[in-house]
Amino acid sequence: MSIDFGTDISEEPIVAKTFLQEDAQEGSLRPRTLREYIGQEKAKGNLSVFIEAAKKRGESLDHVLLHGPPGLGKTTLAGIIAQEMGVNIRITSGPAIEKAGDLAALLTNLSANDILFVDEIHRLNRSVEEILYPAMEDYAIDIIIGKGPSANSIRLDLPHFTLIGATTRAGQLSAPLRDRFGVTLRLELYTPEELCMIVTRSASILNVEIEPDGAMEIARRSRGTPRIANRMLRRVRDFAEVKADGVISRAVADEALRALEVDFLGLDPIDRRMLGAIIENYGGGPVGLETLAATIGEESVTLEDVYEPYLMQLGFLTRTPRGRCVTRKAYEHLGLAAPGGVSDGGEQLTF
Ligand code: ADP
Repeated sequence: MSIDFGTDISEEPIVAKTFLQEDAQEGSLRPRTLREYIGQEKAKGNLSVFIEAAKKRGESLDHVLLHGPPGLGKTTLAGIIAQEMGVNIRITSGPAIEKAGDLAALLTNLSANDILFVDEIHRLNRSVEEILYPAMEDYAIDIIIGKGPSANSIRLDLPHFTLIGATTRAGQLSAPLRDRFGVTLRLELYTPEELCMIVTRSASILNVEIEPDGAMEIARRSRGTPRIANRMLRRVRDFAEVKADGVISRAVADEALRALEVDFLGLDPIDRRMLGAIIENYGGGPVGLETLAATIGEESVTLEDVYEPYLMQLGFLTRTPRGRCVTRKAYEHLGLAAPGGVSDGGEQLTF
């Protein structure tokens, strides 16, 4: 079956790291319990033990740091932890807390055992971060009242709360902050089988008819990331409704994703530009991240957080001490002949 989808459907890249308007519906797709949360077995297993232990002791859960690429379910997991603990959650983000006073206000408004979720915690500014240290360790904050010689510092006790921090880059967290988290969980990219379950679940919530092959096709192309899988599902659904009979079959998914310029492995034009630039401009690498970002006109943070994890998982890209290198597999995927000496995925060979 061949379907003509006509013009381009959306200007926003499906891989976008930023929150797209279409993601506003995400809330309804979020799993609410650990049981509904698909995959991440290791993180879930550890968490369920910690949650049960904290509940048995009637204490707040230890502070939790969640890290991994965007869209893997960190915010969702924080919500589930609150639900499982039976406590309230306040959601904020590093860049949103501008002044130490903003954080003090948030902390003093918490009730016992409540959760404070700070997304992008690596972007907290230093003066704010320093308030967090005693808050996390001693459940207290020091407030300065007055100015000059008459200034006084008073200590305010806080209720025992749980801080859940989420970050795409654990390496950028300062050591004192990182050390104050009792639990650190790393979320991994999902397998196509897990994503297939996520797509099937989302389709049933959205009342979309989808064939198992159709769900698998979306899963295979969504770069290990549930947010992307859900975005793809919504865009493929639009196609299916307008151009086919409303049912998402493998052929419909394939045609729709092809129209979105997502290839059969889930690579989009930026992935291909990135690999192509390393090959054409830098002989396959090594090339530094900043140089590469400037060459293709993208931000280095986006390349590092969004594009590289999947390209590395596919074995198309390696990070060496001297920079990024493409592998033989990447040449093959782009239909190019790899020169001798290109690595199969390990370190770049040098002659
Ligand atoms: P992050 O905070 O890591 O950027 P989110 O928690 O916002 O990611 O997840 C993005 C979307 O992906 C959510 O709306 C949710 O519907 C979906 N999702 C994430 N993880 C899972 C999962 N394990 N099972 C089902 N859906 C998930």
